[in-house]
Amino acid sequence: MQSTTTLILGGGFGGIAAAHTLRSLLPDEHRIVLIDRSPHFAVGATKTWIILGEKEPDDVTSNRENLLPENVEFIQADIQKINIKNGVVFTSQGEVNGDYFIIALGADVNMGAIPGLDRAAHSFYTMDDAVELQKVLHDFKKGEIVLLIPRMPIKCPPAPYEAALMLDDYFKRHKLRQQINLSIYTVEPGPMATAGPEMSTYIRSLIESRNIEYHPLKKTESIDDKSRRIVFNDGSEKNYDLLIAIPPHQAPKVIRDAELINAGGWIPVDPKTMKVNTGEGTIPVYAVGDNTVVPLLGRHKPDVPLVLPKAGVFAASHGTIAAQQIAADVRGESIAGEFDGKGYCYIEVGGAEAIKGEGSFFEMPNPQMKRKAPDKEQYQDKVKWIENWSSGKVV
Ligand SMILES: Cc1cc2nc3c(=O)[nH]c(=O)nc-3n(C[C@H](O)[C@H](O)[C@H](O)COP(=O)(O)OP(=O)(O)OC[C@H]3O[C@@H](n4cnc5c(N)ncnc54)[C@H](O)[C@@H]3O)c2cc1C
Repeated sequence: MQSTTTLILGGGFGGIAAAHTLRSLLPDEHRIVLIDRSPHFAVGATKTWIILGEKEPDDVTSNRENLLPENVEFIQADIQKINIKNGVVFTSQGEVNGDYFIIALGADVNMGAIPGLDRAAHSFYTMDDAVELQKVLHDFKKGEIVLLIPRMPIKCPPAPYEAALMLDDYFKRHKLRQQINLSIYTVEPGPMATAGPEMSTYIRSLIESRNIEYHPLKKTESIDDKSRRIVFNDGSEKNYDLLIAIPPHQAPKVIRDAELINAGGWIPVDPKTMKVNTGEGTIPVYAVGDNTVVPLLGRHKPDVPLVLPKAGVFAASHGTIAAQQIAADVRGESIAGEFDGKGYCYIEVGGAEAIKGEGSFFEMPNPQMKRKAPDKEQYQDKVKWIENWSSGKVV
């Protein structure tokens, strides 16, 4: 077996899981290098705790290098160019060569994608935005809060609904709920539509039972930050006092520049192996997690195609599979693990309770999702999942 180098681009859920699996499968003469621009890692699901002041960034942030197994090299650098023909990555710390690439660079958020949004809206999809929103919520005593989902796809489709339910609980605890109107305006037909009509109807009824207004199929055209008004493409408008938006997402520029994306803007991969079809004359390239698009064969409506939701649990499974595929290739084995489309998500509802939805997204004729009523046990499960990721117990 000739020694190899695998470059893992990005050290989030997908990259970290890939590093652990590959290191466990290949002896140390096979080099594994993980490159990420940030020395810090935080689980996305902690950001709702940050906005409500239940946690501070230091409580939920880990040193990324400490989450990696021994004998995985960490390079803290900005990846500036990816060349899949020559197997070289250009970074702020110089060039790095590899025989295999795993691209796990996540999804960037872009508030600038909709006129007026960046001036008008707060958010909680980055740690800085969550910290800023914490201060704003602390001082907010009455008025109209609008939670806006202007474009899909987004990371963690349940997250906006979780945020709305937790905001309801937060304002009730602070005896302010009666002075505050909460509403959700979304481009989606319903909450978490990929999970199916039962789950979608359930989440909507949970939202509405808490007096949170729900307005689906509202595509945002622009925001007028001076008059505090959202303008939708059907001509309707909505005024707000506090606008909390889920930013539009896009693949990172370095991926777009490498011409790895399809017309929808994401890296298409083989849904079972996570391999990218790069044609002849390139090194083997795998892509995992939020920067990919994984089409689903099953549908809930014949005319509405579905794709796998973007979530950390799927990014981690993808990373594991890509690593298994590479290890099999290095060893000359023909059989390796394949992604089964299964995963889960947590929706915290306030009062230290949560729902754990368990999904099987490759199911035919349509994806399936099971859930129980919210309870404290499922909340504890979420807390444990976050603790494991924050301490490197990931696969
Ligand atoms: C509020 C919120 C709640 C969420 N809740 C959940 C949940 O409950 N369950 C769940 O499964 N998922 C949840 N998610 C989604 C989850 O965080 C993402 O789906 C997951 O992080 C995707 O993993 P990834 O490895 O694809 O990308 P990421 O984890 O985003 O990692 C990408 C990495 O690439 C690095 N990078 C990007 N570009 C460059 C570059 N040019 N050079 C160097 N480094 C670069 C970044 O620094 C980053 O570390 C939530 C997300 C949010 C925002």
